[in-house]
Amino acid sequence: MPDDPFNEPRGLDGRAPDVFRPGAWMPMRQFRDDDEVDFVIVGTGAGGGTLACRLAEAGFTVVALDAGPWFRPLEDFASDEAEQTKLYWTDDRISTGGNPVQLGSNNSGKAVGGSTVHFAMVSLRFRPEWFKSRTLLGYGADWPIDWREMWGYYREVEEALSISGPVNYPWGPKRPRYPYRAHELNAAALALAEGCEALGIPWTETPLATLSAPRGRAHPCVYRGFCLTGCSTNAKQSALITWIPRAVAAGAEVRDLAMAGRIEVKQAEGHPHRGAVATGSGDRAVGVHYLREGRWRFQRARHVVVAGYAIETPRLLLNSATARHPHGLANSSGLVGKYFTVQANQAVWGLSDREIRSYKGPPSLALTEHWNYCDAKDFFGGYCYMSQGPLPQLWARVQSTNRGLWGERLMRAMRDYNHQVGLKIVGEFLELASNRVTLADETDQYGLPIPRVEYTWCDNDKALIGHALAFMRRALEAIGATDIWEQEDDTCHMAGTCRMGDDPRTSVVDADCRSWDIRNLFVCDGSVFPTTGGVNPSLTIQALACRTADRVRALAARGEL
Ligand SMILES: Cc1cc2nc3c(=O)[nH]c(=O)nc-3n(C[C@H](O)[C@H](O)[C@H](O)COP(=O)(O)OP(=O)(O)OC[C@H]3O[C@@H](n4cnc5c(N)ncnc54)[C@H](O)[C@@H]3O)c2cc1C
Ligand code: SF4
Repeated sequence: MPDDPFNEPRGLDGRAPDVFRPGAWMPMRQFRDDDEVDFVIVGTGAGGGTLACRLAEAGFTVVALDAGPWFRPLEDFASDEAEQTKLYWTDDRISTGGNPVQLGSNNSGKAVGGSTVHFAMVSLRFRPEWFKSRTLLGYGADWPIDWREMWGYYREVEEALSISGPVNYPWGPKRPRYPYRAHELNAAALALAEGCEALGIPWTETPLATLSAPRGRAHPCVYRGFCLTGCSTNAKQSALITWIPRAVAAGAEVRDLAMAGRIEVKQAEGHPHRGAVATGSGDRAVGVHYLREGRWRFQRARHVVVAGYAIETPRLLLNSATARHPHGLANSSGLVGKYFTVQANQAVWGLSDREIRSYKGPPSLALTEHWNYCDAKDFFGGYCYMSQGPLPQLWARVQSTNRGLWGERLMRAMRDYNHQVGLKIVGEFLELASNRVTLADETDQYGLPIPRVEYTWCDNDKALIGHALAFMRRALEAIGATDIWEQEDDTCHMAGTCRMGDDPRTSVVDADCRSWDIRNLFVCDGSVFPTTGGVNPSLTIQALACRTADRVRALAARGEL
């Protein structure tokens, strides 16, 4: 009988759960709160988990904190949608604006491993031009990083996660073949392929972070389709079973059920107490206050990294305001919390006379990036679209909330479940300063101010949605689907509240994810994205974390950290 991961920390007393063996443990280095470690990292998801691993392997001392539990997938995860809602970040948040964002299951996780524990595993590279979209495509903002450098880090992450994918990827500069072979297509993916071919656009097998062959102690995928509720076989290559065990083996300490509430900053000697905070104020972050086992503690550190994702990261920085940083840490630009961006996630659904059983296998086994690489459109940005496989409870919820079906009509729709077929986009919304995260007056169970999230679609967003819905409708019509309907109100993935750039006036962190204002304070997660592109973000977040680790090592070697 496993212990309760919600009430008792598992990363304790010099040991950590061995996620590959039921009931087993692995040794874990343990630091004292008053040890001044090289890095304390808040958050252990795609950004924080990867960085913890790479920094520990580079020889730095690392403590990583996560507010969520440390799950053992082989024992804690059930093939049950209701049970698995335990993976989501469902703490109180206020969602407002013209198009309030649905928060929780579809965009944030709370666990060691972060949102990757219940992500859909789609692992795509950015289109190179998106790193300079302002200069090359006329919208958004330029990243301070060259795509060629990212190409190398993408490769590193694809190798580290044994991404399964096609031999030849149809779009963008040539890339080596994926480390593992692509998965077999299910009927939902074949329907996508058929629609693309009928409309004359390319498609391919989706590069996925789930194994198509055994790897070490992890099993290959068994195609039962519970990926979005946490994979109970360890086929899914989440941070929980990849970067985190590597980090622990390399000497990092990971503390679960550890909620960070405030970053402590020491004023630079000789600096006046008043006045605006200049870039590189000289102030230093000295550690993090966090709540664990019912009491507030303080971990000392030479450097602090925030990696809580695009709502919790600005929340922590804003909540750490001091007299010299009255608007929050790293916020002399006023941009912490601003340019909050989600991605479009609209779908078109229909019925096939064939049995589809789209729940079989990972949800998105085939995709097309055609509209990401075609610029002849009357709006900025692009989108990919993918085959879909919603599980029954989610499907019933979509029918009742998005389609308004109740009673007998809902029952009828559910009887058609095995014949439904759908296409869904991941699309680029434009980044707007007015979409933002701020602190509300209300507090949560930790006594911390809760985040207030404001979002409104702009005309360009609406044009992108309209284009995608119309095209996907044609694709379903082309394969003879009937009863076609559009799911317009959905978004996914978050970004943008601590954007990176090469100008301290227009960005929060530099290309090394290092804050302009407090040079030993880093942000390393999805919130540093200046733009989102039209693909899922996790591969880019992990690639950036690998790059950040290499930059830290180089800076340290030159005595510039
Ligand atoms: C349902 C779903 C499907 C997805 N599918 C895909 C996909 O197919 N492909 C893809 O590329 N991306 C996908 N994503 C998105 C992807 O998972 C995220 O973009 C990515 O994990 C974000 O990485 P991150 O490091 O910024 O944050 P996260 O991975 O969310 O990690 C943040 C961590 O910080 C912790 N934390 C936050 N605040 C604090 C605090 N104050 N103290 C301590 N800990 C804290 C949280 O508990 C969490 O564990 C999906 C996401 C979801 C939810
Ligand atoms: S389909 Fe594969 S990746 Fe998804 S939950 Fe099952 S074994 Fe895991």
